[in-house]
Parts: sequence; structure tokens; C-alpha cells
Amino acid sequence: MIIVDLSKLKGEIIRVGRLLIRKNLTVGSSGNISVRIPGEDRIIITPSGVPFRTMLPEELVIIDLDGRVIEGKKKPSSELPLHLKIYKSRPDVNAIIHAHTIYCSVLAATQTPIPPILDEMIFFIGGDILVAKYAPPGTEDLARNALEALGTRKAVILANHGVVACGRDLEDALETLVRVERISQIYILAKLIGEPKRLPDEVIRREIEAYELRREGKSL
Ligand code: 13P
Ligand code: ZN
Repeated sequence: MIIVDLSKLKGEIIRVGRLLIRKNLTVGSSGNISVRIPGEDRIIITPSGVPFRTMLPEELVIIDLDGRVIEGKKKPSSELPLHLKIYKSRPDVNAIIHAHTIYCSVLAATQTPIPPILDEMIFFIGGDILVAKYAPPGTEDLARNALEALGTRKAVILANHGVVACGRDLEDALETLVRVERISQIYILAKLIGEPKRLPDEVIRREIEAYELRREGKSL
């Protein structure tokens, strides 16, 4: 039996939320964070419209995978459909961060995907980074489009909106977010001085195979 320390999980979400603000990875209440409660069909998610800087553990909401509120007085994040859809189809994902980071948002605003140009993209993200087809925030359409473009990878850009980063735990999701933001910055800078070059096809194929093996072993 897995013994779950809910207050520890909630504390980690609050800490990561503050870090998003401190590290300029988002602003105000833009973005949302969730974690899967280990061994359960339930998640903890941030409330809607509450600034990360002042968010309290007791404001977090526990929801089952069918979207029913189990605990919490606040309205859950408006992007709940997005979080639930990913957890339901990706058992390897145990934490999700959605944020409005600057460089990912530049690519979101121009609907520019990032081709596989760096080895770390395949190893850590699972391949290229696609832009999900546009849908308004908080809608089922956004959730569906995001999952479709995410596929088996760990991150996806939301057209004209921001980015979604996944991980095997919250620390890993945060690392994914920081990495995707850095890769976006690198891609934009690379385009300023030349034409970014794709990795060789053979390398892409081999590294995706290795990523999928790790993913199937649930060690993203
Ligand atoms: P919530 O405050 O409802 O989580 O919304 C923030 C957001 O980024 C919507 O896309
Ligand atoms: Zn958003």
C-alpha cells in the first residue's frame, strides 16, 4: 500500500507556483499546476484565478479523474479538462505545469513548432515540440488539441497561449518546463543567425526508441 502525504504534495505545488513567479516563468495567476495522487485516480490542482504568490495549500482542490470535486472550496483551474485528459491517457505522467513563459509564448504567438535540432530534445522531451491547434482557454477543444499534439512527448505549445510541461513527478515537470523554455529561446536565437539544422534521421529514430523504452518502463 502506498502511504500518501497529501500535505507534503500540496506544499510542493505551492512552492513550485511561487518559483514560477520568482523565475519569471509566468505572471500573476496565469498558468496552473497539478499532481496525480500516487496510487489513486485523483489529482490535486491549483484553484482558478488565484495568484501563485499568495496561493495557500488549503486553496488547492482534489478532483477525481471524472472531474468530480472531492475536496476544496475554491473553483478548480479552468484548464481542468486539459489536465484530466492528459492523466487519463498518459499513465506515465504524474505532474503537469501549464505556464505562459516568454519564449514558448513567442512560438505560440507565431504558431512555430520546434524541429528536432538538439539531442536533449529527444532524450528529455521525446522529440520535436509541436504547436497544438488553437482553441479558446479552458475548453474541451483545447484539451483535445493539446493531447493530440503532445502524443507521447513531455511538452506541447498551445497556439496563441502558452506551454504545457509534463513529468513523472512535479520536480520533473518543472525541469521539463525550464528545458522547453530554454530550447525555445535557443531556437529563436539560432534562427537569428542562420538556419537551425535537424539532427540526422538515424539519430532521431534511435533516440526516440530509447525514449519510448524509458516511457514504457514509466521512468519518463
Ligand atoms: P486558471 O487560473 O483558471 O488556472 O487559468 C489560468 C490559465 O492560464 C488559463 O489558461
Ligand atoms: Zn493559460
